[in-house]
Amino acid sequence: MTDMPRYPHRHLLGIQGLHPPEINALLDLSERYAEQNQGADKKDSTLRGRTVINLFFENSTRTRTSFELAGKRLGADVINMQVATSSVAKGETLIDTAMTLNAMHVDVLAVRHPDSGAVQLLSEKTNCAVINGGDGRHEHPTQALLDALTIRRRKGRLEGLTVAICGDVLHSRVARSNIHLLNTMGARVRVVAPRTLLPSGVETLGVDVYHDITEGVRGCDIIMMLRLQQERMQGSYVPSVREFFRFFGLDYAKLANAAPDALIMHPGPMNRGVEIDSDLADDFERSVIREQVEMGVAVRMACLEALAANAESSAGGAA
Ligand code: ASP
Repeated sequence: MTDMPRYPHRHLLGIQGLHPPEINALLDLSERYAEQNQGADKKDSTLRGRTVINLFFENSTRTRTSFELAGKRLGADVINMQVATSSVAKGETLIDTAMTLNAMHVDVLAVRHPDSGAVQLLSEKTNCAVINGGDGRHEHPTQALLDALTIRRRKGRLEGLTVAICGDVLHSRVARSNIHLLNTMGARVRVVAPRTLLPSGVETLGVDVYHDITEGVRGCDIIMMLRLQQERMQGSYVPSVREFFRFFGLDYAKLANAAPDALIMHPGPMNRGVEIDSDLADDFERSVIREQVEMGVAVRMACLEALAANAESSAGGAA
């Protein structure tokens, strides 16, 4: 696929700092894989002989499975390293893990970690290409790319759309990566949350801030709901989940203020009845949540291909 503009970096650690042609290169490649994945023969040999490791220090359903599927559909050998059963649980440091991976000649490493700096550190200490599968509250770049692909396929563009990102922005790496991507691609971004669930200085990320969801979603083309991330909360950020749903949960009444063809997104896992009404989440006229999961596989295939190609050209295939 050398006729397409390339993603020029060795790793994919975040969206911040990427330029529109780099993002478009990954989205265009993903588009091809989205089509391939809808056909009967979903497999090719682009990554034949390559080794992909999924190193997940935090739980994941969609992200880990889709990286695995993506690697396998490209013909790579894919290994899932479960942290609970690996030597990390016995006290091995991240640096020792990196040295082990180097000795195994891994080509691409997809990492999820609860600490924001850990993925960057691994990218410095390993010889392989590293993809950030979500690090703490920092970034989740493949989620933002799959969200962008879903929007682009439905709306035909990203530029000029108004997108409301609603809920627990404070703890959300999904929100951060989406804010960077959508701003870079010319969308207008709003964040909608109670004050306690917004990072201080969030305006400096180039968003408009709303504390009332009815106003926040007014006229929006896209509404992205976020999970209330109770596992990252120490203390109480909302009076109760019932209150939260009443004031910040998306239901049909609040949705009526958005554009008539507004689409609803959620990165999963969903807390039904907390940030989103259950019927609305399943309403395929409005909700593209299932499509987001589908696009996740295509985006991860594109990222694996792009990084493997870069590793080959920079290290003569000896990475
Ligand atoms: N799955 C997403 C993440 O890993 C969103 C979430 O967990 O709420 O960040």
